[in-house]
Amino acid sequence: MITGITGQDGSYLTELLLNKGYVVHGLVRRSSNIDRKRLDHLTQNVEIYNQTLHLHYADLSDSTSIRRLIHRVKPQEFYHLAGQSHVGLSFEIPESTAEFTAMGTLCLLEILRDMEQPPRFLNMGSSEIFGAPETSPQTEQTALRPTSPYGVAKAFAVQMVKVYRKSFGLYCCSAISYNHESPRRGDSFVTQKIARSVAEIAAGQREKLRLGNLEVTRDWGYAPEYVEAMWRMLQHDKAQEFILATGRSTSLKEFLTHAFSYVGLDWERHVEIDPRFVRPAEPTALVGDPSRISATLGWEARTDIASLARIMVDHQQKMCAGQNEVSFHWN
Ligand code: NDP
Repeated sequence: MITGITGQDGSYLTELLLNKGYVVHGLVRRSSNIDRKRLDHLTQNVEIYNQTLHLHYADLSDSTSIRRLIHRVKPQEFYHLAGQSHVGLSFEIPESTAEFTAMGTLCLLEILRDMEQPPRFLNMGSSEIFGAPETSPQTEQTALRPTSPYGVAKAFAVQMVKVYRKSFGLYCCSAISYNHESPRRGDSFVTQKIARSVAEIAAGQREKLRLGNLEVTRDWGYAPEYVEAMWRMLQHDKAQEFILATGRSTSLKEFLTHAFSYVGLDWERHVEIDPRFVRPAEPTALVGDPSRISATLGWEARTDIASLARIMVDHQQKMCAGQNEVSFHWN
């Protein structure tokens, strides 16, 4: 069972699990628009939809519906990916960010606590729980110092998962994940914004791209590899936290350079700095140490930043040319 199945990670995880022969149940929330573009290639396939992939309506605040569903489906593995995933936006909507990310996770843990045979449970944590860390790179032992409503809500969820593991013996753990991108990344994220703008500038559809601080650094990986890490975590005999990261710190300027040079353009001719995009309480030096997951589960991020930029720009160029189909990643 997956919450957040319509999101970037949810869609890749669904494909990975289907490929492994799982039956997947996804929770989706009601919306006036049932366009689920990241899942369309699966829901339009009659051999998959309602055969090995089932979607059920449930908002994270519908604890009774979720409880009923979990008891009916009896999942063996539960991947909790749902939540408002934009750090900057969490300053605009802190209450709902906390309600769904913090209390939504607690609600799921409470349901599992009452079950005789609870599923293995993975919660998606985030590097934002470290906020403004004192040390770099961060490990599973680094102190939590979140600096955004998103980071605080994720920190609550990660700590609560630990409490329920220790207090009630649940098999539950959190993936403390650093940024991971892909052609399916949401449009409001900076890497996607860059990829789309580069494709449009290369196609002569626009002139300029406006960005905030180009010196900001992140640890950027490739989403399909991260969902594989999540799956490996739940196959391990012992539930524990793992850092999911590349271990490499990259500046936005480097990503920008790779994205523009892929289409043969110089970014300095097309990028303008706009102070409106500099967000409050910007965390610094967020880079993860993936040693534990590498040593324990044999997982490593393989896609470097140049390849990531190329994959994303390539996809956006196809979109610009009117080829906007999402296809099965694992084929
Ligand atoms: P997306 O924004 O692409 O997807 C978020 C998913 O959560 C969507 O399916 C969305 O549904 C769902 N959702 C949001 N709010 C609710 C709600 N109230 N009830 C039910 N479903 C809800 O995020 P990603 O796939 O990129 O990320 C997955 C998880 O990993 C998130 O929790 C995110 O915070 C976390 N994470 C992601 C990182 C990244 O770099 N991608 C890094 C670290 C952590 P809908 O389609 O209806 O909006």
